[in-house]
Amino acid sequence: MAVLKFAPVLLLGLLPATPIFGQASGLDLGAIDRSANPCADFYQYACGGWLKKNPIPADESSWGRFDELFQRNQEILRGILEDSAQHQDRSAIDQKIGGFYQSCMNEGAVETLGTTPLKVELTRISSVANRADLVDEVARLHARQVTVFFSFYSSPDPKDAHMTLAGLDQGGLGLPEKDYYLRTDQRSEEIRKKYVAHIAKLFVLAGTPAAEAEKKAAGVMKIETSLAKASLDVTARRDPQALVHEMQKPELKQLGTQFDYNQYFIRVKSPEFTKLNVSVPDFVKGLDQVLANSDMSAVQDYLAWHYIHASARLLSKALVDENFDFYGRTLTGAEQQKPRWKRCVSATDDELGEALGRKFVEKTFGAEGKDRTLKMVGEIEHQMGRDIDSLTWMTPETKKEAHVKLQAVTNKIGYPDKWRDYSSIEIAAGDYFNNWYRANEFENKRQLDKIGQPVDRAEWAMTPPTVNAYYDPTQNNINFPAGILQPPFYSNKAADAVNYGAVGHVIGHELTHAFDDEGRQFDAEGNLKNWWQKNDETEFKKLADCFVNEYGSFSPVPGIELNGRLTLGENTADNGGVRLAYLALLDDLTKEKKPLNGEVDGYTEAQQFFLGFAQVWCENQRPEESRLLAQTDPHSPPKFRVDGVVPNIPEFSAAFGCKVPDPMFSAKGCRVW
Ligand SMILES: [Zn+2]
Repeated sequence: MAVLKFAPVLLLGLLPATPIFGQASGLDLGAIDRSANPCADFYQYACGGWLKKNPIPADESSWGRFDELFQRNQEILRGILEDSAQHQDRSAIDQKIGGFYQSCMNEGAVETLGTTPLKVELTRISSVANRADLVDEVARLHARQVTVFFSFYSSPDPKDAHMTLAGLDQGGLGLPEKDYYLRTDQRSEEIRKKYVAHIAKLFVLAGTPAAEAEKKAAGVMKIETSLAKASLDVTARRDPQALVHEMQKPELKQLGTQFDYNQYFIRVKSPEFTKLNVSVPDFVKGLDQVLANSDMSAVQDYLAWHYIHASARLLSKALVDENFDFYGRTLTGAEQQKPRWKRCVSATDDELGEALGRKFVEKTFGAEGKDRTLKMVGEIEHQMGRDIDSLTWMTPETKKEAHVKLQAVTNKIGYPDKWRDYSSIEIAAGDYFNNWYRANEFENKRQLDKIGQPVDRAEWAMTPPTVNAYYDPTQNNINFPAGILQPPFYSNKAADAVNYGAVGHVIGHELTHAFDDEGRQFDAEGNLKNWWQKNDETEFKKLADCFVNEYGSFSPVPGIELNGRLTLGENTADNGGVRLAYLALLDDLTKEKKPLNGEVDGYTEAQQFFLGFAQVWCENQRPEESRLLAQTDPHSPPKFRVDGVVPNIPEFSAAFGCKVPDPMFSAKGCRVW
């Protein structure tokens, strides 16, 4: 670890020089709250001005720098889609994305159809009379990606990550997570009451008399609560070993006797297979109990509810509004719906993402962006290697294996080399409902067809316009869609220090995921295979517990504490990511013979770095949204992604002159990597 030699500058009251042409560093100087003390609350210092100037729009549940960028991307996508809609005869891609978008925007046609599109399937559901009918219907709904009862999919074989295996997992809930059905606090009780009322209202809108609808809703809630009890919660699901139970088909048959899974696999048109992974065997048993104890009419109601629920946003205004009222207003606090065009842009991105993304990339992403990002990725990977070597708690044996894994990491930048072909999806004018479901059927078939095949590691799990990034532990690769490689994350015009702080820490974050509490359990090939010496594993867990305690003490909304175990992987990645990016910057400065205390906009290189990092996290959140995320999201809230990290980094304290007893001062910070 390099030690900083320069004298720290205290920034309070320090005014930056005003550059003639905009901002020379690329930092958002107006975002800074100069009345705040960076050593007391760095997030407030870096973002306070921005937070004040950027209230949450009525149609959003939160608003941050990610959203600003996403909004810019959405406007570009809207331009592309409107142009494609007008010129559908120009190319096959224009026909698909333009036709799909236009059918979504055609509110008149959607309104005229009302709930008619639901009729065919609801009639079938109401005639489900026995177990064989049920298997058929579940397969039909799953093929359309309506996940009743459980989910069936393909994924890399945990023991042979180059091959694709069939997988069966828990599912079938309408609330965000298991514990929503079980918590006993007042707010949770209230959400459940509103949820049951929402189910009843949708039944009524789909044509059921009110009194009957209430009865149906209560029955649905009963089934879902039983399914929830048999499910694993979000925190338990973070342990990859806990989700691996490979078995042969006859073993599954023993777990679940009330549902003919073998017949289901045929009906859902799965390729032949003998072995599958059942993530949560106890869930299969719990589902069996539910089926044994429910009358067929309750099961019909449950299936009908999920079909109406999945379809609500495709239907007339009354259903769209009711869907928003619960999932938007109640759960996230948003006050009004997003304009239709935004919803239709997102729907096209969801359903035909690589066709739309291809055009997005042509318009926005040049070769230069790809080259510069790749260079930065290379530098940060190099720092990870040095970091591994510098660890005092790890034995040479484990270090050697860690290097093997690091060397094997592959980088994907911007967009896929080979674009997905959507030509088989029929897009019909004025038929948004069926266009959507045909796209779902295409995607479900595409996923199931992989069973038994080698894994295609060139495939992307995010579309190019997405403002996000990911590490895939089963493929050992890091992925950065074109959508995020733009300001405020990355700019050709910004200072290197700011780019390293912003996109550099995101790259470091994804790379650190390869070595967090989850990722470290996968080997260089992506197999779930332990490569750690016993002692090193014990040390790792001890160091990681420091993060569990640190973040577990944060409270994003009164009465709610962060879950230090749920957020452990992300917090490890945030801390590692900032450190790696900082080391890469230091290396760069040394190579270029630039001093660390050189100033731009009144901030030293080190200060620019930490501000560049913090400012991508500026975000206002509604309390409902904060609560929802604290209970379901493995990421810490933005404020703690900043204020949780900097006290662990001595170079931050040096850069801003923080000392005892400043809250941001690093006395005995947590550190794993
Ligand atoms: Zn992450």
